Amino acid sequence: MAIDWTESKIEEVVSAVLKSLGKQNAPSGSWDSTQYNGRAYSGVYADMNAAIEAATAGYKAVRAMSVAEREKIITAIRNLCREEAPVMARLGVAETKMGRVEHKTAKHILVADKTPGTEDIRAAAQTGDYGLTLTEMAPFGVVGSITPSTNPSETVICNSIGMIAAGNGVVFNPHPNAIATSNYAVDLVNRASAQAGGPKVLVASTAKPTLESAQIMYNHSAVRLLVCTGGPGVVKSVLSSGKKAIGAGAGNPPVIVDDTADVRKAGKDIIDGCSFDNNLPCIAEKEVFAFANIADELISSMKENGAYQITIEQANRLAEIVLVESKNLKTGIVKKVVSRECVGRDAKVLLEKIGVRVGDEVRCIICETSFEHPFVQNELMMPILPIVRVRDIDEAIDLAVKAEHGCRHTAHMHSKNIDHLTRFARAVETTIFVKNAPSYAGIGFGGEGHTTFTIAGPTGEGLTSAKSFTRYRRCVMSDSFRII
Ligand code: NAD
Repeated sequence: MAIDWTESKIEEVVSAVLKSLGKQNAPSGSWDSTQYNGRAYSGVYADMNAAIEAATAGYKAVRAMSVAEREKIITAIRNLCREEAPVMARLGVAETKMGRVEHKTAKHILVADKTPGTEDIRAAAQTGDYGLTLTEMAPFGVVGSITPSTNPSETVICNSIGMIAAGNGVVFNPHPNAIATSNYAVDLVNRASAQAGGPKVLVASTAKPTLESAQIMYNHSAVRLLVCTGGPGVVKSVLSSGKKAIGAGAGNPPVIVDDTADVRKAGKDIIDGCSFDNNLPCIAEKEVFAFANIADELISSMKENGAYQITIEQANRLAEIVLVESKNLKTGIVKKVVSRECVGRDAKVLLEKIGVRVGDEVRCIICETSFEHPFVQNELMMPILPIVRVRDIDEAIDLAVKAEHGCRHTAHMHSKNIDHLTRFARAVETTIFVKNAPSYAGIGFGGEGHTTFTIAGPTGEGLTSAKSFTRYRRCVMSDSFRII
């Protein structure tokens, strides 16, 4: 029966989920996250081996279905995702303390509307003197999916749609800081499956995801493909697993604004993109290289659109807070990493840390810095945007490519000069290159094309969709089956 999701109903469910996870009162790690709101999560198991077993049963059920039956389940997932987008958005912010509810809601609707389904799977036929050769895109089996804290339920639902459309089963090892939200999404997929006449447990997950449960997933013979969405550490670990793996890793997207751009629009677009979900999306604008002759106008447009400019002294103080020292236990090397207390927080909250009090209208912090500044060099994932003045396009491209650090993830440019646009796109070699729009146009939000929350730069699948989770199989019919 459809639930009437009023504000108070959403609040009731979110607080009941968090309470039943023990997050509000119990010490971390002591909760039973197979239960929520008085009900067991469907498809969530205390043990990873049990989750893989359930995902294997889910895979067998999907294999036995017609494509139309699969599509019926996917339609039910899309519908429930739309209906419960505000619940998952609220839960995501409450559990992780990161991001913005209205933007997370929009991200779920985007997943529901623009994640490709079974239509993405197409067979190819080749005919000639020797007959017919058919190439079909077959499932791998059970896919092991590692998901991030930054887009937790969005990634679970997007991956579930694509992986099921391709005929696979799925088992998740979600981010430990987003267990409730991720596993709520696993439960939602299973509820949708049951509603549409599919198995009660179509996809599975674990209640206590750890590095050890990830290792069980890597080593289990039933898991044939690993898909990892996260930072460099986890991408490296799946790529070292010895299994076929899809790695969707970190980025540090630069933006160039030259003096042919519609500068006022560029200022608004950049702040819209950079502040979306408090800069959590890996594609979001992270640093700007602005031609010196338009930099003042660009900054003025940014300020008119919700940016608050701080001085370099304030920026340096803020950098000491948002970046903290971390020691690698194996090598003993100490390096600066982003503080988890600051990732995805509101601009207002970050400004308070350096004694600046502003209202809710401020959605992004901007500052002029040198290229070497840690705000330029680190993927902050918070609404802080450094701006570096550049002389010309040569310097802009040179510095922007260096700031991207070879992630080949995403880059942006505001310009009407097609030579400049082409030169930067060629030099930076990113999976996504957005021209004259906010970053989110690159994942189909206000831009053409499908969406995904798993952008696989390192392994080359690009913006993943159902076909990324398939293996190609060939069938040859000798001397027959041509009709000409
Ligand atoms: P993260 O790297 O902290 O964690 C991702 C997942 O990997 C979590 O489930 C975590 O528990 C697990 N993990 C971490 N190290 C592991 C290891 N050695 N073995 C097994 N599992 C391990 O990611 P996060 O902070 O939640 O997300 C932010 C990062 O992910 C950013 O760098 C961002 O750019 C990237 N990201 C990329 C994409 C993309 O599509 N390319 C999408 C979202 C996020």
